[in-house]
Amino acid sequence: MTLSELPARADSAALSRLAASVPTEGDREEIPVEAPYSGDTIQTIPASTDADVSAAVERAREAQKLWADRPISERAEAVLRFHDLVLDERTELLDVAQLESGKARLDAFEEVLDVATTARHYAYRAADYLAPERRKGALPLMTDTRVYRHPIGVVGIVSPWNYPLTLSVSDALPALLAGNAVVLKPAEETPFSALLLRDLLREAGVPDDVFQVVTGRGGEAGAAVVEESDFVCFTGGTETGRTVAERAGANLTDCSLELGGKNPMVVLGDADLEKAVSGAVQGCFTNAGQLCISFERVYVERGVYDEFLDRFVRRTRGLDVGPGYDYGPDVGSLVGPDQLETVERHVEDAVSKGADVLTGGRARPDLGPYFFEPTILTGAREGMKLAREETFGPVVSVEPVESAREAIRLANDSAYGLNASVWTEDGERGREVARQIECGTVNINDAYAAAWASVDAPMGGMKDSGLGRRHGREGFLKYTESQTVAEQRAGAVTEPPDWVPEGWYAEAMTLLLRAMKRLPGVR
Ligand code: NAD
Repeated sequence: MTLSELPARADSAALSRLAASVPTEGDREEIPVEAPYSGDTIQTIPASTDADVSAAVERAREAQKLWADRPISERAEAVLRFHDLVLDERTELLDVAQLESGKARLDAFEEVLDVATTARHYAYRAADYLAPERRKGALPLMTDTRVYRHPIGVVGIVSPWNYPLTLSVSDALPALLAGNAVVLKPAEETPFSALLLRDLLREAGVPDDVFQVVTGRGGEAGAAVVEESDFVCFTGGTETGRTVAERAGANLTDCSLELGGKNPMVVLGDADLEKAVSGAVQGCFTNAGQLCISFERVYVERGVYDEFLDRFVRRTRGLDVGPGYDYGPDVGSLVGPDQLETVERHVEDAVSKGADVLTGGRARPDLGPYFFEPTILTGAREGMKLAREETFGPVVSVEPVESAREAIRLANDSAYGLNASVWTEDGERGREVARQIECGTVNINDAYAAAWASVDAPMGGMKDSGLGRRHGREGFLKYTESQTVAEQRAGAVTEPPDWVPEGWYAEAMTLLLRAMKRLPGVR
């Protein structure tokens, strides 16, 4: 399909309505939003200022109190209604996400799957997570100790452009269920997916001011969200994450940071190569490689290296790259000129320093302004940009290794630690290798979806890939303040009664401590 034949699916009147719905305190500069498939401006959105963000946070703070007072069952019902609306309205969501990110339709559909799965999981688990818990008291039988969970208040979410549906709302759902309000600042490139999801949350019964979207630039609107919120959930690049953490730290505001990666894939000699090759294609080229958990380094045991590489190159050459608002093309566009520039720079630098391009390696302006071919390189070495920096594009280096041990050493030789995968027919060996890889998630015989879609289990980065976790209990409880309430029913923990000499008391407590160490029920 040529660009002129490609209709922009999303209705422009709907986009204007969404842009006009961003609340501002006055007239604001308008930021153009581009369709990466064509490079055309599809709409503009307001550049929200500090004053706009302050007003949004103030409204959110007021609305949060009533929202938190609702029974958890009501909040969960709203999230389950949202789950259904997301599935019902998937066509419009897919059109808008594709329009502003340039991704392939199946990549956009992965986001719909993720949002619905996360909504279902947390809606059914929230009551458990929030239930008061009894904990062991200071003195057996005499101290009744319970832990309560309170919402933190206003959660500020700052999100990137690569998964505009998932990363706008999937982290917001547990925050809302825990009784918080949310103010979201989506990426400048992809505000409309977030605004559309906001409307679906409203339709599902989440009050207007409990989930708000402010638009605009990171250094202004994003920084103001970080400054004003009671908890910050940030997803984006590691350098931006450091700035966000510094500001949050100065305010003593807690935060979670989901940052970049340079993710390794390890293929052991006994792997099913057909499955491993499919995993490599998916893990390297989904979303044109603009996926925080995609692979940019593949290490293959020498005995199967040639065969793996040969099949991987053949499968990659067969990928259908191009624009399309229907299911079909395998690989879509990069999001914009900056991303294309980084990808081209990394490939040129590697080639100039001796790397071999086995397939791809070129931009494809004939398909659209920001398309780049899925690219496989070998001979990546220290000193090349792509050896250590995140490329965040459809570019991967494949290298042979002599043993699993060498693969583990190379996998860990990175400042990042987000996601990895290990391919082997021996599950036990796979787990043993996985445990030695310094990444927050490791998939065995799957690229990334096995760990990511296990929403009950924590997901996040070690080392420079982040702080804190999303998903599971960890991804819910971070949005709560714990409060310990301990009732002393008899005696006092550290005060002897008046009639007991202090020396006797000290001896009696010493005996008690010795006994407590030995009694399984109380230690
Ligand atoms: P980015 O860091 O440039 O921007 C992310 C968001 O932060 C945007 O909304 C931006 O406007 C905002 N921002 C920029 N400067 C800010 C500031 N000073 N204060 C507050 N907010 C600010 O990242 P990007 O280019 O949009 O996204 C790509 C990066 O995100 C990659 O490094 C990728 O690995 C990472 N990422 C990580 C995950 C994860 O879960 N770990 C998921 C997706 C993307």
